[in-house]
Amino acid sequence: MDTDVLICGAGAAGLTLAIDLARRGVSFLLIDQAAAPFAGSRGKGIQPRTLEIFEALDVADRMIAAGGRYPSQRHYAADGSHHDEPTVAASAATPAEPYGEPLMLPQHLTDGMLRARLAELGHAPRYAHALVGFTQDDSGVTAHVHSPVGEHDIRARYLVGADGGRSFVRKTLDIGFPGESLNARAVVADLSLSGLTREVWHRWGKGGQQISLCPLQGTTLFQLQMPIPLDGEFDLSDAGIAAAITARTGRADIQVHAVHWRSDYAMSARLADRYRVGRVFIAGDAAHVHPPTGGQGLNTSVQDAWNLGWKLAAVLRGADEALLDTYEEERREVAADMLGMSTRLLDAARERGDLRRGREQQQLDLGYPASSLSLDERGDDAVVRAGYRAPDAPCIGAGGQPLRLFSLLKSADWILLRYEPAGAAAIAPRRGLRIITVGQHAELRDHAGHLRAAYGFTAGDIALIRPDGYLAALTHDEYSPALAKYIDRLLA
Ligand SMILES: Cc1cc2nc3c(=O)[nH]c(=O)nc-3n(C[C@H](O)[C@H](O)[C@H](O)COP(=O)(O)OP(=O)(O)OC[C@H]3O[C@@H](n4cnc5c(N)ncnc54)[C@H](O)[C@@H]3O)c2cc1C
Repeated sequence: MDTDVLICGAGAAGLTLAIDLARRGVSFLLIDQAAAPFAGSRGKGIQPRTLEIFEALDVADRMIAAGGRYPSQRHYAADGSHHDEPTVAASAATPAEPYGEPLMLPQHLTDGMLRARLAELGHAPRYAHALVGFTQDDSGVTAHVHSPVGEHDIRARYLVGADGGRSFVRKTLDIGFPGESLNARAVVADLSLSGLTREVWHRWGKGGQQISLCPLQGTTLFQLQMPIPLDGEFDLSDAGIAAAITARTGRADIQVHAVHWRSDYAMSARLADRYRVGRVFIAGDAAHVHPPTGGQGLNTSVQDAWNLGWKLAAVLRGADEALLDTYEEERREVAADMLGMSTRLLDAARERGDLRRGREQQQLDLGYPASSLSLDERGDDAVVRAGYRAPDAPCIGAGGQPLRLFSLLKSADWILLRYEPAGAAAIAPRRGLRIITVGQHAELRDHAGHLRAAYGFTAGDIALIRPDGYLAALTHDEYSPALAKYIDRLLA
């Protein structure tokens, strides 16, 4: 076996998976058919839930330092007057939710920071390596890879196709990709221009004549977005783009100096019938494509990888193989809901030019309460349930130092929180499980009651938190046979 996991595609999904496997000590190879990293802005919004994941991977702060906030939208009327309105519903950070609003960072910078983190962990994508075929058997996958030095085989225990919307892996597996074309086509481009303030996101026109120019945080560029007719050629030359801007804005003072990247694309909403066939998985755009409205694509792709990484690592270490089936069980439903939401937002954008984003897009309320991995022995009226995102909570360690719950989650381990227990722990420590006791004289102190408030804890409560920061199990009974069985099955 050459490696445990072969990851095909070094976009946001493949890079996130690679970082997670690297920090877990799992052997992998990451290949990409492109000669070099992609250089366009594409998905520019990182939602609060994704920021939490990037914090666990130790890249959030550098992304926040490089990017910036979403500016307000400035809507221009035909007479040149305008009004401004907020683009995103920003809420203040709270003890339970440390990131109150999305971050704007163009995707090539996001991907670049993920590559930098991967380099710190001692790995790099292999560019100019295209997956051109694969077969699988009981013990692994044989992948045929075309590279500058010719064709060769890579033998891996698992293959993950994070190879984008046209996924070669999905097609080779013959996985259905049903959905619909949304009868919408648009241009997106990154421009150097003068004549506009960078304080706001500029928007003109209605219906098919809309155009928007958004200052791209972290760069000196603007991102152009505009719908174009479904049929026919659209002039994407520098001069053609400049002419479209003048025509749709009515502003001769906006001067385009350079077009750094451009693309036209037809929008569709499609969801793969399956996310797994044997030892091969698909993740990110390979499993779902949808309109960019709502800024969900990149985020959902990162979170697919985040869900799959710890499960692959656990099974490679001896956990029950069935754990890998929960990847599709959990993530396909999330993508189905997201497809519906981004399509509704596309309709609102087309009809009313409405691009505002709120709580639903922040992905903080996504979870897996119906998952077969969620064990809940507490009452229905609890503030959190098994499967929900585990909230953050600022605490202090016994030594008096501040300690956030999220900093404990960085360890990549399962965390068993024992809240003010009456006696000794019933669950024995084991590899990959950290048992943390919370109490006035214990190692972790809930000095301000944030844990109690966010988790609805009462003395004697137990919370088992998954390595991806979702609640696995909640119980009042530390001796719960179901809890013991759960831990035996998943923490081999
Ligand atoms: C024009 C455009 C605008 C967008 N705007 C937004 C937006 O505003 N907001 C938003 O959230 N999302 C947006 N998206 C979507 C967002 O970019 C994607 O959701 C995100 O890139 C998905 O990440 P990924 O890792 O799944 O796939 P990708 O980023 O597409 O990465 C796939 C990688 O796989 C590689 N690959 C493909 N086939 C092979 C093969 N056979 N062998 C080896 N490597 C292979 C490719 O070279 C590529 O690097 C936009 C996308 C496009 C195209």
